[in-house]
Amino acid sequence: MKPTHIEHIGIAVNSIDEARKYYEDVLGLECYAIEEVADQKVKTAFFMIGQTKIELLESTDPEGPIGKFLANKGQGIHHIAFAYENVDAALSEAGEKGINLIDKTSRKGAEGLKIGFLHPKATMGVLTEFCSK
Ligand code: ZN
Repeated sequence: MKPTHIEHIGIAVNSIDEARKYYEDVLGLECYAIEEVADQKVKTAFFMIGQTKIELLESTDPEGPIGKFLANKGQGIHHIAFAYENVDAALSEAGEKGINLIDKTSRKGAEGLKIGFLHPKATMGVLTEFCSK
């Protein structure tokens, strides 16, 4: 099963209010949605480029995944998300190929997408998300 496109690139930032100035004023992109995902302890801001989005991730809790990422690594690319027709089939196919999965089945992410993560140790250090509508 092949991904159809890069759905989004997730970028951890200290402050969406600060970071969006760069994406809007310098890159000329437009923020079209801001959404808090409570169970991920994160606030997200979305910018569209073609079929692909930039997803800024601001921590709402230092103990959450983005809070821990920022404390360890600072701001920067957090994950890359590949779009699939069927995220659960893509996850199980990766699992059958020996990839260590964070999510064996999909869960609900921002924008109502079905999402699942692969373990970065199995993907050469790039936290990888699969998603579908
Ligand atoms: Zn994502």
